Amino acid sequence: MPEISASSEMRGVYISTYGCQMNVNDSERMYTLLEMQNYNPVVSPEMADLIILNSCSVREKPVHKIHSEVGRYKKLKSLKPNLKIGVGGCVGQQEKKALLRDIPILDFVFGPDNIDELPQLVDELDSGERVARAKFHHQEPYQIQTLVRNPGVSTFVNITKGCDNFCTFCVVPFTRGRLRSRDDQEIVDDIKRLVDRGVKEITLLGQNVNSYSSSRGMNFSSLLRRLAKESGIERIRYTTSHPKDFDQELVDTMAEFRPQICDYIHLPVQSGNSEVLEKMNRGYTREDYLKKARMILDGLPGVSFSTDLIVGFPGETHEQYLETLSLLDEVPYESIYAFKYSPRPFTKAARWEDQVTEEEKSRRLTELIEKHRKIAFNLAKTYPGKVLNVLVESKDERHEGVVTGRSTQNKVVHFKGEDSLIGETVPVRITKAFPSTLYGDREQT
Ligand code: SF4
Repeated sequence: MPEISASSEMRGVYISTYGCQMNVNDSERMYTLLEMQNYNPVVSPEMADLIILNSCSVREKPVHKIHSEVGRYKKLKSLKPNLKIGVGGCVGQQEKKALLRDIPILDFVFGPDNIDELPQLVDELDSGERVARAKFHHQEPYQIQTLVRNPGVSTFVNITKGCDNFCTFCVVPFTRGRLRSRDDQEIVDDIKRLVDRGVKEITLLGQNVNSYSSSRGMNFSSLLRRLAKESGIERIRYTTSHPKDFDQELVDTMAEFRPQICDYIHLPVQSGNSEVLEKMNRGYTREDYLKKARMILDGLPGVSFSTDLIVGFPGETHEQYLETLSLLDEVPYESIYAFKYSPRPFTKAARWEDQVTEEEKSRRLTELIEKHRKIAFNLAKTYPGKVLNVLVESKDERHEGVVTGRSTQNKVVHFKGEDSLIGETVPVRITKAFPSTLYGDREQT
């Protein structure tokens, strides 16, 4: 754990977060570490003494976004000369000194592997020097404790860092480093502490959780079994899985600990064409993927699927794209996260010349999303009349006397109920269903 300074002066910190769940989780960790350093979270940059832009470089045009957001703080900095501004996350790692060189009002940059050094780094800023901290700790043991201010009913627990897969479109191995797995005993202890704080559901988090491997030789399935038996947690989810590492043992483990291990699997396919998948270095073909999906549906009937899809990967022909489109007829995805391919620094695919035009990528994306919208509406029609066990997470802020929770299939369900139900799992009969939200009535038991 980091050393905490003895400073008693309270200051304000504002963190602007871009990107994936991993980044949201990292921001929460930063807030907690800085709170121990006497920084209070504030709701606007104007109230802050410290502003951090926690950036993601997996999908969008993050460097431009960083430049434009920091640009907006120029006036603030001139009014408040002691204000410190930093960039963390994947862009901090990727751009390092270039950011300090190009943005004079920036005080510090740091990478995802340096979050735990934030308290010391912030202390160093008091000397007036600008700081860059973006070194990987590949060789060091990976220890981390979940730090969340208000964990609520459901929270995330990190189990792996980085990735060794080097998909040709992905920057993660370059910004988050090589795969490291956390010690299984530490994870059990961590979750027990969260259970003591009232947490009912955890989501195990990693870029590729199926390649988890502890120093004691425990794989992901055995970790799940251990957590289900020993941690006392009511529900377990996990994300993200890699199709090539998804095996029968994992299906059997999920079936054995149903419903404690939830009926929801995010299984990113990326493309429905085997040649494109090979160029992506995904390690499976269309047929392999479909076989895995069938294996999962046979072992876990009723399980809910979601996926990630990329259209317009370099060289993707119209026929190859049609195979991605047709995959939606084969696997009953409740939701999809579809993106236009965009080149990322350091990656192989960014150097390939046969890039699909923006216009064509947009056309493919619109068609894919439209096709899935219809499928999702049809899937939603199967819910009315069903009774789902809903873990209540919060009150519905927009409707008095209504609470919101999620089913084991990760469906968001709203129903009439008291706030005292928060943290309880209750049966709800579904009366109305939309692709992303269900409505129902509490079933009296
Ligand atoms: S599995 Fe591929 S897409 Fe996922 S994080 Fe690793 S390199 Fe990136």
